Amino acid sequence: MNDTPAAQRPPAPAAAHRPPSAAGAPAAPAFADLHLHTLFSDGTFSPEELAGRGARCGLAAMSLTDHDTMEGCPRMALACRDLDIEFVPGAELTAELDGAELHILGYYLDIENPKLQTSLKQFQAVRQNRIHEMVARLNRVRVPLRAETVFAIANCHSPGRPHVGRALVQEGFCSSLDEAFDRFLKKNRPAYVPKFKISALDAIALVHHAGGLASMAHPGLNRSDDVIPALAAAGLDGLECFHSKHTAAMTEYYLDIAARHHLLVTGGSDCHGYSKGKPLIGGTKLPAAYYERLKERHRAGIVNSELKIVK
Ligand code: AMP
Ligand code: FE
Ligand code: FE
Ligand code: ZN
Repeated sequence: MNDTPAAQRPPAPAAAHRPPSAAGAPAAPAFADLHLHTLFSDGTFSPEELAGRGARCGLAAMSLTDHDTMEGCPRMALACRDLDIEFVPGAELTAELDGAELHILGYYLDIENPKLQTSLKQFQAVRQNRIHEMVARLNRVRVPLRAETVFAIANCHSPGRPHVGRALVQEGFCSSLDEAFDRFLKKNRPAYVPKFKISALDAIALVHHAGGLASMAHPGLNRSDDVIPALAAAGLDGLECFHSKHTAAMTEYYLDIAARHHLLVTGGSDCHGYSKGKPLIGGTKLPAAYYERLKERHRAGIVNSELKIVK
Protein backbone atom coordinates (compact mmCIF):
# COMPACT_ATOMS: atom_id res chain seq x y z
CA MET A 1 0.00 0.00 0.00
CA ASN A 2 0.99 3.60 -0.41
CA ASP A 3 2.87 4.94 2.59
CA THR A 4 2.22 8.61 1.85
CA PRO A 5 -0.09 10.11 4.48
CA ALA A 6 -3.15 11.76 3.00
CA ALA A 7 -2.06 15.20 4.20
CA GLN A 8 1.21 14.98 2.23
CA ARG A 9 -0.41 13.95 -1.01
CA PRO A 10 -0.70 16.48 -3.76
CA PRO A 11 -4.07 18.22 -3.98
CA ALA A 12 -6.85 16.71 -6.02
CA PRO A 13 -6.30 17.18 -9.74
CA ALA A 14 -7.76 20.11 -11.61
CA ALA A 15 -10.67 19.76 -14.00
CA ALA A 16 -8.26 19.23 -16.89
CA HIS A 17 -7.42 15.82 -15.44
CA ARG A 18 -11.03 14.74 -15.48
CA PRO A 19 -12.42 12.58 -18.25
CA PRO A 20 -13.78 14.55 -21.16
CA SER A 21 -17.56 14.70 -21.19
CA ALA A 22 -19.33 13.19 -24.16
CA ALA A 23 -20.83 15.59 -26.63
CA GLY A 24 -24.59 15.60 -27.16
CA ALA A 25 -27.31 14.22 -24.93
CA PRO A 26 -26.27 12.79 -21.60
CA ALA A 27 -25.87 9.05 -21.90
CA ALA A 28 -25.85 6.47 -19.14
CA PRO A 29 -22.42 6.36 -17.53
CA ALA A 30 -20.24 3.79 -19.24
CA PHE A 31 -17.34 2.03 -17.62
CA ALA A 32 -14.46 -0.23 -18.53
CA ASP A 33 -12.51 -2.85 -16.59
CA LEU A 34 -9.04 -3.15 -18.07
CA HIS A 35 -7.41 -5.47 -15.53
CA LEU A 36 -8.81 -8.99 -15.34
CA HIS A 37 -7.50 -12.55 -14.93
CA THR A 38 -8.84 -15.94 -15.99
CA LEU A 39 -7.86 -19.54 -15.38
CA PHE A 40 -5.25 -19.12 -18.11
CA SER A 41 -3.19 -17.65 -15.24
CA ASP A 42 -4.23 -17.44 -11.59
CA GLY A 43 -7.87 -16.40 -11.93
CA THR A 44 -10.72 -18.86 -11.49
CA PHE A 45 -13.14 -17.76 -14.24
CA SER A 46 -13.11 -18.97 -17.81
CA PRO A 47 -13.06 -16.16 -20.40
CA GLU A 48 -16.77 -16.80 -21.06
CA GLU A 49 -17.69 -16.59 -17.37
CA LEU A 50 -15.65 -13.41 -17.02
CA ALA A 51 -17.27 -11.76 -20.03
CA GLY A 52 -20.72 -12.79 -18.75
CA ARG A 53 -20.01 -11.20 -15.39
CA GLY A 54 -18.76 -8.09 -17.12
CA ALA A 55 -22.01 -7.85 -19.04
CA ARG A 56 -24.01 -8.20 -15.83
CA CYS A 57 -21.94 -5.40 -14.30
CA GLY A 58 -22.80 -3.24 -17.31
CA LEU A 59 -19.24 -2.92 -18.56
CA ALA A 60 -18.83 -1.31 -21.98
CA ALA A 61 -15.26 -2.53 -22.44
CA MET A 62 -13.02 -5.18 -20.92
CA SER A 63 -9.40 -6.22 -21.25
CA LEU A 64 -7.97 -9.59 -20.31
CA THR A 65 -4.58 -9.15 -18.65
CA ASP A 66 -3.51 -12.59 -17.52
CA HIS A 67 -0.01 -12.94 -16.08
CA ASP A 68 2.52 -13.57 -18.85
CA THR A 69 0.03 -15.10 -21.27
CA MET A 70 -2.54 -14.11 -23.88
CA GLU A 71 -3.96 -17.61 -24.34
CA GLY A 72 -7.39 -16.58 -23.03
CA CYS A 73 -7.71 -13.60 -25.37
CA PRO A 74 -9.19 -15.28 -28.47
CA ARG A 75 -12.03 -16.85 -26.43
CA MET A 76 -12.54 -13.66 -24.45
CA ALA A 77 -12.74 -11.66 -27.69
CA LEU A 78 -15.50 -13.92 -29.02
CA ALA A 79 -17.41 -13.89 -25.73
CA CYS A 80 -17.23 -10.09 -25.52
CA ARG A 81 -18.32 -9.72 -29.14
CA ASP A 82 -21.42 -11.83 -28.43
CA LEU A 83 -22.24 -9.62 -25.44
CA ASP A 84 -21.61 -6.35 -27.27
CA ILE A 85 -18.65 -5.50 -25.05
CA GLU A 86 -15.53 -3.95 -26.57
CA PHE A 87 -12.49 -6.13 -25.96
CA VAL A 88 -8.85 -5.14 -25.63
CA PRO A 89 -6.31 -7.97 -25.90
CA GLY A 90 -3.77 -7.60 -23.11
CA ALA A 91 -1.34 -9.17 -20.69
CA GLU A 92 0.28 -8.31 -17.36
CA LEU A 93 4.05 -8.67 -17.44
CA THR A 94 6.04 -9.11 -14.25
CA ALA A 95 8.97 -6.71 -14.48
CA GLU A 96 11.54 -4.95 -12.32
CA LEU A 97 13.36 -1.70 -12.13
CA ASP A 98 16.25 -1.05 -9.75
CA GLY A 99 15.44 -4.28 -7.94
CA ALA A 100 11.79 -3.37 -7.29
CA GLU A 101 9.07 -5.57 -8.78
CA LEU A 102 6.45 -3.85 -10.84
CA HIS A 103 3.82 -5.02 -13.28
CA ILE A 104 3.45 -3.67 -16.80
CA LEU A 105 0.08 -4.00 -18.48
CA GLY A 106 0.20 -4.31 -22.25
CA TYR A 107 -2.93 -3.29 -24.19
CA TYR A 108 -3.85 -3.90 -27.84
CA LEU A 109 -1.03 -6.41 -28.11
CA ASP A 110 -0.73 -8.32 -31.36
CA ILE A 111 -1.08 -11.87 -30.08
CA GLU A 112 0.67 -13.16 -33.21
CA ASN A 113 3.75 -11.01 -32.84
CA PRO A 114 6.65 -13.53 -32.95
CA LYS A 115 8.87 -11.72 -30.45
CA LEU A 116 6.00 -11.35 -28.00
CA GLN A 117 5.09 -15.02 -28.42
CA THR A 118 8.70 -16.08 -27.79
CA SER A 119 8.99 -13.83 -24.75
CA LEU A 120 5.72 -15.03 -23.22
CA LYS A 121 6.83 -18.65 -23.70
CA GLN A 122 10.09 -17.81 -21.89
CA PHE A 123 8.25 -16.16 -18.99
CA GLN A 124 5.97 -19.20 -18.75
CA ALA A 125 8.95 -21.59 -18.72
CA VAL A 126 10.44 -19.57 -15.86
CA ARG A 127 7.14 -19.87 -13.99
CA GLN A 128 6.97 -23.64 -14.56
CA ASN A 129 10.56 -24.19 -13.40
CA ARG A 130 9.86 -22.05 -10.38
CA ILE A 131 7.00 -24.34 -9.34
CA HIS A 132 9.46 -27.26 -9.18
CA GLU A 133 11.84 -25.13 -7.12
CA MET A 134 9.08 -24.04 -4.72
CA VAL A 135 7.94 -27.63 -4.26
CA ALA A 136 11.53 -28.74 -3.60
CA ARG A 137 11.83 -26.08 -0.91
CA LEU A 138 8.54 -27.17 0.64
CA ASN A 139 9.79 -30.76 0.67
CA ARG A 140 12.93 -29.58 2.47
CA VAL A 141 10.79 -28.20 5.29
CA ARG A 142 8.89 -31.50 5.43
CA VAL A 143 5.83 -30.51 3.46
CA PRO A 144 5.47 -33.44 1.05
CA LEU A 145 3.62 -31.60 -1.73
CA ARG A 146 4.14 -32.93 -5.26
CA ALA A 147 4.75 -30.73 -8.27
CA GLU A 148 2.23 -32.80 -10.24
CA THR A 149 -0.47 -31.74 -7.79
CA VAL A 150 0.32 -28.07 -8.38
CA PHE A 151 0.40 -28.47 -12.16
CA ALA A 152 -2.91 -30.37 -12.11
CA ILE A 153 -4.53 -27.53 -10.15
CA ALA A 154 -2.95 -24.83 -12.29
CA ASN A 155 -3.83 -26.56 -15.58
CA CYS A 156 -2.29 -23.65 -17.48
CA HIS A 157 1.06 -22.62 -18.93
CA SER A 158 1.51 -19.67 -16.58
CA PRO A 159 1.39 -21.12 -13.04
CA GLY A 160 2.23 -19.03 -10.00
CA ARG A 161 2.30 -18.93 -6.25
CA PRO A 162 -1.50 -18.92 -5.89
CA HIS A 163 -1.57 -22.36 -7.52
CA VAL A 164 1.00 -23.66 -5.02
CA GLY A 165 -1.15 -22.11 -2.30
CA ARG A 166 -4.29 -23.81 -3.59
CA ALA A 167 -2.44 -27.14 -3.69
CA LEU A 168 -1.30 -26.65 -0.08
CA VAL A 169 -4.92 -26.06 0.94
CA GLN A 170 -6.28 -28.95 -1.13
CA GLU A 171 -3.76 -31.38 0.38
CA GLY A 172 -4.55 -30.21 3.90
CA PHE A 173 -1.18 -28.58 4.65
CA CYS A 174 -2.82 -25.17 5.10
CA SER A 175 -6.36 -24.15 5.93
CA SER A 176 -6.47 -21.10 3.64
CA LEU A 177 -4.65 -19.40 0.80
CA ASP A 178 -3.68 -16.57 3.13
CA GLU A 179 -2.12 -19.05 5.53
CA ALA A 180 -0.23 -20.64 2.63
CA PHE A 181 1.22 -17.26 1.64
CA ASP A 182 1.94 -16.24 5.24
CA ARG A 183 3.66 -19.49 6.21
CA PHE A 184 5.38 -20.54 2.99
CA LEU A 185 5.00 -18.40 -0.11
CA LYS A 186 5.62 -14.78 0.84
CA LYS A 187 9.03 -13.21 0.47
CA ASN A 188 11.39 -14.44 3.21
CA ARG A 189 9.26 -17.55 3.79
CA PRO A 190 10.71 -21.05 3.21
CA ALA A 191 9.17 -21.75 -0.20
CA TYR A 192 9.61 -18.29 -1.69
CA VAL A 193 11.57 -18.38 -4.91
CA PRO A 194 12.46 -15.14 -6.65
CA LYS A 195 11.37 -15.10 -10.25
CA PHE A 196 13.37 -13.84 -13.22
CA LYS A 197 11.85 -10.55 -14.24
CA ILE A 198 12.24 -8.65 -17.46
CA SER A 199 13.42 -5.09 -16.94
CA ALA A 200 10.49 -2.68 -16.98
CA LEU A 201 12.18 -0.75 -19.78
CA ASP A 202 12.43 -3.92 -21.87
CA ALA A 203 8.81 -4.75 -21.03
CA ILE A 204 7.68 -1.37 -22.37
CA ALA A 205 9.78 -1.89 -25.51
CA LEU A 206 8.31 -5.37 -25.96
CA VAL A 207 4.76 -4.04 -25.64
CA HIS A 208 5.50 -1.34 -28.21
CA HIS A 209 7.18 -3.86 -30.51
CA ALA A 210 3.95 -5.90 -30.41
CA GLY A 211 1.93 -2.82 -31.35
CA GLY A 212 0.61 -2.21 -27.86
CA LEU A 213 0.40 0.48 -25.23
CA ALA A 214 2.10 0.01 -21.86
CA SER A 215 0.61 1.01 -18.52
CA MET A 216 2.13 0.60 -15.06
CA ALA A 217 -0.20 -1.60 -12.98
CA HIS A 218 -1.37 -0.75 -9.45
CA PRO A 219 1.36 1.77 -8.61
CA GLY A 220 -0.12 2.06 -5.11
CA LEU A 221 0.79 -1.55 -4.37
CA ASN A 222 4.40 -1.36 -5.42
CA ARG A 223 5.56 1.65 -3.39
CA SER A 224 7.67 2.71 -6.33
CA ASP A 225 6.34 6.10 -7.37
CA ASP A 226 9.92 7.25 -7.81
CA VAL A 227 10.33 5.00 -10.87
CA ILE A 228 7.42 6.61 -12.72
CA PRO A 229 9.46 9.49 -14.23
CA ALA A 230 12.05 7.03 -15.58
CA LEU A 231 9.34 4.81 -17.02
CA ALA A 232 7.57 7.78 -18.57
CA ALA A 233 10.85 8.87 -20.14
CA ALA A 234 11.27 5.33 -21.49
CA GLY A 235 7.93 5.49 -23.26
CA LEU A 236 5.41 4.29 -20.69
CA ASP A 237 2.00 5.20 -22.08
CA GLY A 238 -0.30 4.94 -19.07
CA LEU A 239 -0.73 4.65 -15.34
CA GLU A 240 -3.31 2.43 -13.64
CA CYS A 241 -4.88 5.08 -11.41
CA PHE A 242 -8.09 3.15 -10.78
CA HIS A 243 -7.54 -0.19 -9.03
CA SER A 244 -9.44 -2.22 -6.45
CA LYS A 245 -6.67 -1.77 -3.89
CA HIS A 246 -6.41 1.99 -4.41
CA THR A 247 -8.35 4.24 -2.08
CA ALA A 248 -10.15 7.25 -3.58
CA ALA A 249 -7.30 9.44 -2.30
CA MET A 250 -4.72 7.22 -4.01
CA THR A 251 -6.65 7.38 -7.27
CA GLU A 252 -6.65 11.18 -7.09
CA TYR A 253 -2.93 11.14 -6.27
CA TYR A 254 -2.12 8.96 -9.28
CA LEU A 255 -4.42 10.94 -11.58
CA ASP A 256 -2.31 13.93 -10.72
CA ILE A 257 0.95 12.06 -11.41
CA ALA A 258 -0.48 10.79 -14.72
CA ALA A 259 -1.39 14.32 -15.74
CA ARG A 260 2.05 15.64 -14.83
CA HIS A 261 3.77 12.98 -16.93
CA HIS A 262 1.26 13.09 -19.78
CA LEU A 263 0.28 9.49 -19.19
CA LEU A 264 -2.98 7.88 -20.20
CA VAL A 265 -5.21 6.79 -17.33
CA THR A 266 -6.10 3.11 -17.09
CA GLY A 267 -7.89 1.10 -14.45
CA GLY A 268 -9.51 -2.13 -13.50
CA SER A 269 -10.52 -4.43 -10.71
CA ASP A 270 -7.65 -6.96 -11.01
CA CYS A 271 -10.35 -9.58 -10.50
CA HIS A 272 -8.99 -13.11 -10.01
CA GLY A 273 -12.43 -14.67 -9.64
CA TYR A 274 -12.70 -16.60 -6.39
CA SER A 275 -8.92 -16.90 -6.00
CA LYS A 276 -8.73 -14.24 -3.30
CA GLY A 277 -12.19 -14.16 -1.80
CA LYS A 278 -15.09 -12.55 -3.63
CA PRO A 279 -14.81 -11.63 -7.31
CA LEU A 280 -13.73 -8.01 -7.66
CA ILE A 281 -15.19 -7.39 -11.10
CA GLY A 282 -17.66 -4.52 -11.06
CA GLY A 283 -16.14 -2.95 -7.95
CA THR A 284 -13.63 -0.79 -9.78
CA LYS A 285 -14.85 1.03 -12.84
CA LEU A 286 -12.74 3.06 -15.20
CA PRO A 287 -14.88 5.91 -16.59
CA ALA A 288 -15.26 5.18 -20.28
CA ALA A 289 -13.82 8.52 -21.32
CA TYR A 290 -10.39 7.36 -20.13
CA TYR A 291 -10.83 4.13 -22.06
CA GLU A 292 -11.75 6.13 -25.16
CA ARG A 293 -8.51 8.09 -24.87
CA LEU A 294 -6.54 4.84 -24.73
CA LYS A 295 -8.43 3.54 -27.74
CA GLU A 296 -7.83 6.76 -29.65
CA ARG A 297 -4.11 6.65 -28.88
CA HIS A 298 -4.00 3.11 -30.17
CA ARG A 299 -6.00 4.02 -33.27
CA ALA A 300 -3.59 6.85 -33.95
CA GLY A 301 -1.20 3.96 -34.61
CA ILE A 302 1.88 4.23 -32.49
CA VAL A 303 3.46 1.09 -33.85
CA ASN A 304 1.52 -1.73 -35.38
CA SER A 305 -1.88 -1.14 -36.93
CA GLU A 306 -2.68 -4.81 -37.44
CA LEU A 307 -4.17 -5.33 -34.02
CA LYS A 308 -6.87 -7.68 -32.97
CA ILE A 309 -9.59 -5.56 -31.47
CA VAL A 310 -13.06 -6.92 -31.80
CA LYS A 311 -15.62 -4.26 -32.71
P1 AMP B 1 3.61 -14.91 -8.62
O1 AMP B 1 3.40 -14.14 -9.89
O2 AMP B 1 3.71 -16.37 -8.85
O3 AMP B 1 4.75 -14.38 -7.77
O4 AMP B 1 2.28 -14.73 -7.74
C1 AMP B 1 1.75 -13.46 -7.58
C2 AMP B 1 0.26 -13.59 -7.42
O5 AMP B 1 -0.01 -13.98 -6.08
C3 AMP B 1 -0.48 -12.27 -7.66
O6 AMP B 1 -1.65 -12.49 -8.44
C4 AMP B 1 -0.87 -11.85 -6.28
O7 AMP B 1 -2.03 -11.10 -6.27
C5 AMP B 1 -1.07 -13.18 -5.58
N1 AMP B 1 -0.96 -13.06 -4.13
C6 AMP B 1 -0.02 -12.38 -3.43
N2 AMP B 1 -0.26 -12.49 -2.10
C7 AMP B 1 -1.38 -13.27 -1.97
C8 AMP B 1 -2.15 -13.75 -0.85
N3 AMP B 1 -1.82 -13.46 0.41
N4 AMP B 1 -3.24 -14.50 -1.11
C9 AMP B 1 -3.58 -14.80 -2.38
N5 AMP B 1 -2.91 -14.37 -3.47
C10 AMP B 1 -1.82 -13.62 -3.27
FE1 FE C 1 -2.50 -12.70 -10.14
FE1 FE D 1 -0.33 -7.24 -10.71
ZN1 ZN E 1 -3.30 -8.52 -12.10
